[in-house]
Amino acid sequence: MSTQSPADIRIPTSLLPADGRFGCGPSKVRPEAVSALAAAAPGFLGTSHRQAGVRSVVGRLRKGLSTLFDLPDGYEVVLGNGGATCFWDVATFCLVGRRSQHLVFGEFSSKFAAAAGAAPHLDAPEVIESSPGTHPLPEARADVDLYALTHNETSTGVAMPIARPEAAPAGSLVAVDATSAAGGLRVDAGQTDAYYFAPQKCFASDGGLWVALLSPAAVDRVENLHRAGRWVPASLDLHIALENSRLDQTYNTPALATLFLFADQVEWMLANGGLEWAASRCDRSAEYLYGWAESSPYASPFVAKPAERSHVVGTIDLDASIDATAVTKALRANGILDTEPYRKLGRNQLRLAMFPAIDPEDVAALTRCVDHVIAALS
Ligand SMILES: *Cc1c(COP(=O)(O)O)cnc(C)c1O
Repeated sequence: MSTQSPADIRIPTSLLPADGRFGCGPSKVRPEAVSALAAAAPGFLGTSHRQAGVRSVVGRLRKGLSTLFDLPDGYEVVLGNGGATCFWDVATFCLVGRRSQHLVFGEFSSKFAAAAGAAPHLDAPEVIESSPGTHPLPEARADVDLYALTHNETSTGVAMPIARPEAAPAGSLVAVDATSAAGGLRVDAGQTDAYYFAPQKCFASDGGLWVALLSPAAVDRVENLHRAGRWVPASLDLHIALENSRLDQTYNTPALATLFLFADQVEWMLANGGLEWAASRCDRSAEYLYGWAESSPYASPFVAKPAERSHVVGTIDLDASIDATAVTKALRANGILDTEPYRKLGRNQLRLAMFPAIDPEDVAALTRCVDHVIAALS
């Protein structure tokens, strides 16, 4: 076959996935959810977030998440504006007592560590790091009052099991960045005190919002720091967010379309069988992707240990003889979007989301498209 320039490669329609969105966030939004939003729009979009119409959607969302994660008694669903990045600042003000420990194994996990390190009111955090493509484990310390874990490191495609560190001192908290994991990976919420995320990944909505599932111990921490008088900017104040969430509101104006799509996705998961169903769907996608890569002469999973390979974000290295940039360019020219690797990882790699909204059969189709493109390029 003759060599072609990437953008001129035409993938046969019969090979193409039904939906070409494989980005890790913003990620595929189900067309059915968009239609439901359009149908609900006249009485919903452009209405007050302090009135029953919008508050009922927030209420459905909070109740739906509580069911989806099978929250233990006393856990509360809290939400606010600003996305997961903003929640790191919230946690730095309202959840870390004096000192946190951070497991750093990629771009996202490093950012919370940096935020805690920069906070003048906290002791320097402990950072436990491992190289990209692996994950470290937490270590119990007498002087650490918050353990910061990341369920799925979106920049590398590594997932880690979520459990309280053995022998962690009583009263210490476990805070988990679950932005790309929540809704796609199984979790025992009882092993966490703040399981937080944003809705543009497994929840197939838009960005700009954060949600935290808070344990009674986390709520106590918030109350105690509030009583102790630590200064907190109001927009980052978890105490204020808690009070508003209990009324099915946010402190300031939220994006209503985001809330609607988020609630719709949670209810879609629940109607199909809940978190176990959603996670099984991601398992199937992962089987297709990693199975293909392992049997391919030129592709291989970036994450060496199968147990650490994420079922929601797949990273696939390509042989040095193939230019991954040309592959992603050809895919993009055929409507298959956002398969580029995380830029700072700097590898000859494809990265794609396998979130619950993405049909596993589309992941299988994508692997056949990659084979077609590589044959055409060689
Ligand atoms: C996407 C992502 C974030 C950032 O989320 P924003 O809502 O854009 O702030 C943080 N952590 C992880 C693990 C992510 O995947």
